[in-house]
Amino acid sequence: MKVKEQLKMLKPYQPGKPIEEVKKEYNLDKVVKLASNENPFGCSELVKKVLVDHFDNMAIYPDGYAFAIREKLANHLGVNMDQLIFGNGSDEIVQIICRSYLGKGTNTVMATPTFPQYRHNAVIEGAEIREIPLKNGEHDLENMLQAIDEKTRVVWVCNPNNPTGVYIPESQLLSFLEKVPTDVLVVLDEAYYEYVTQEDYPNSINLLQKYENLTILRTFSKAYGLASLRIGYGIANPTLIKEMEPAREPFNTNTLAQKAAFVALDDQDFIEYCRNENEKGLKQYYCFCEEFNLKYFPSQGNFILINFGRDANELFEALLKKGFIVRSGKALGFPTSLRITVGSTEQNEAIIQHLKELL
Ligand SMILES: *Cc1c(COP(=O)(O)O)cnc(C)c1O
Repeated sequence: MKVKEQLKMLKPYQPGKPIEEVKKEYNLDKVVKLASNENPFGCSELVKKVLVDHFDNMAIYPDGYAFAIREKLANHLGVNMDQLIFGNGSDEIVQIICRSYLGKGTNTVMATPTFPQYRHNAVIEGAEIREIPLKNGEHDLENMLQAIDEKTRVVWVCNPNNPTGVYIPESQLLSFLEKVPTDVLVVLDEAYYEYVTQEDYPNSINLLQKYENLTILRTFSKAYGLASLRIGYGIANPTLIKEMEPAREPFNTNTLAQKAAFVALDDQDFIEYCRNENEKGLKQYYCFCEEFNLKYFPSQGNFILINFGRDANELFEALLKKGFIVRSGKALGFPTSLRITVGSTEQNEAIIQHLKELL
């Protein structure tokens, strides 16, 4: 077969190692996965009941328009129903955006290192990728602006950035948005929105009115703890949503995901609990880093990138043997760092103990 040339340059996504595989390989009873920024507290108790209740309706196609969750989420966010697009995870919204706006002869601007799916999907569409190195873990918005030209269709801004956890304050985002040409789409990926505690984090939904070229991405995978069900969403002006809708598969979000997301929104106490625990967990890691003189980026996500100044793969392997799956920074553009998802207090304590022994 003659596969598209650009696919030959890509590797399939490399997920965090699955728990069962590590158990077998290392002969362990208990394995803790802190590799993919999943919620260590699971999801709201409300979700479990709604899933069981649905078991009799498996033969029926999902609601392709996702009416119930659309209405609920629109109310929750204070936007109109026609300002939302749902995806099989926000990953799929990234794909939909690339299908809609990118192709040969266009280019797209993003930071590096950042979330890899922007680049991946843009390459498949044949667009030229313009990657602007982070400055001290932060988006270099000035140089990103410089990289925009008349062929630029999409600019990606990950806030807070994965894998560094660094966020862009509102004032900086505003002056950036002011300077981006109005016909260039700005995608603001807020996958970790619910974890953010900084006061000057942008209130991005309020910006939609002024900046008609803005799309915000959020997800139920992280703080809501529904990663396995695959549901995320985009928020934008109705014109943008209408442009993108034809690129979406008709039944892209499944019924269980829609129902789970619907009830999960009701449990904001759970989200608050997770945000608070996460903040405490981050402090455990900050203390450890300071004690051992390790460089790290203060994080607004549920993960932390720590620079150990030595081969990340070796540390990754050593932790794996102890039953902790984290992410080596090697594949993330930080060869001497580990990206660790913040777990429960006990999990953080255990991993920190192992790290202390290894250092
Ligand atoms: C995890 C993540 C996503 C994707 O999440 P979905 O499970 O596809 O909703 C998107 N962007 C960033 C920055 C992420 O870290």
